Amino acid sequence: MEKIVEVKNLHVTFSTYGGTIQAVRGVNFYVNKGETLAIVGESGCGKSVTSNAIMRLIPDPPGKITQGQVLFKGEDVTKFSEKKMRSIRGVDISMIFQDPMTALNPTLTIGSQLMEGLRQHQGISSARSKQKAIEMMELVGIPNPEERLKQYPHQFSGGMRQRIVIAIALICEPELLIADEPTTALDVTIQAQILELFEKIQEVTGVSIILITHDLGVVAKIADRIAVMYAGKIIETGTKRDIFYKGQHPYTKGLLKSVPRLDVKGAALTPIDGTPPDLFSPPAGCPFAPRCPYAMEVCNKIYPDTVQLSQSHEVNCWLQDERGKRLLATTTTKE
Ligand code: SF4
Ligand code: MG
Repeated sequence: MEKIVEVKNLHVTFSTYGGTIQAVRGVNFYVNKGETLAIVGESGCGKSVTSNAIMRLIPDPPGKITQGQVLFKGEDVTKFSEKKMRSIRGVDISMIFQDPMTALNPTLTIGSQLMEGLRQHQGISSARSKQKAIEMMELVGIPNPEERLKQYPHQFSGGMRQRIVIAIALICEPELLIADEPTTALDVTIQAQILELFEKIQEVTGVSIILITHDLGVVAKIADRIAVMYAGKIIETGTKRDIFYKGQHPYTKGLLKSVPRLDVKGAALTPIDGTPPDLFSPPAGCPFAPRCPYAMEVCNKIYPDTVQLSQSHEVNCWLQDERGKRLLATTTTKE
């Protein structure tokens, strides 16, 4: 399968008065053409920083991509000039954020905001861009598009505004769409509608999607593959089946347990005890060790290598590493 994006050994830091935060620490993943990869983790795990790095939206200073590559269709965007990046953002790679209200300009009509990207990047006639805007409004499910193009953001509901934001992101027909918590600000019914919209859009346009979320319910609905992030690292990657049915990392298992069950009324969330490590001075070993019920001595000392569990499924945990398994066996026999 053709890879649209491949991130290799990405490191991102932020300098502060208190020291340097190592926000992303050697992240590797890829997205195939036409698929949805979900990057999942708690807030502060580096998932937004990772997606911003793909768009080269890390403010430098204080942020910096210190190592690694972001290959978009084989070319390393970390090497691109700002001018080249401007011609790519919104055109080849688009991004949508959590809050649909701040993403729209309250003083401009929906029509002019939709057509802005086309005008800026594609220099097409105004009749053609209006036609395109109407088509996009139809694609994202906004009724009476011709009339509604003349209206302002405040004349739309939250869900409709998020549909408009999605239409704006897609109007230049990008090959990659990055959606950072795109449904978090919406109520549950609207959330479900927006997720269905993503599926439909992918079917119609073939766009590849990176979905950033802390919500495994969202992931279960639309992801093809999942990368689980913790303390600036991806700790497990697999297909949706691999992660939901065969997830091996204790953190992944903890996350899965914390998903409220829709089939059990009143089912409670089981939060994972403890907090993620300080990323000013991240631990040398497994960052999950202080919270992990299976932590061994080696976990605190050495970060586990990536273990390939199947062609699609990989994990970084000593429990899955043959050497770790031997250590575990010796400790158990001693007891
Ligand atoms: Fe737990 Fe060790 Fe695996 Fe980390 S490497 S998740 S501490 S068992
Ligand atoms: Mg975030």
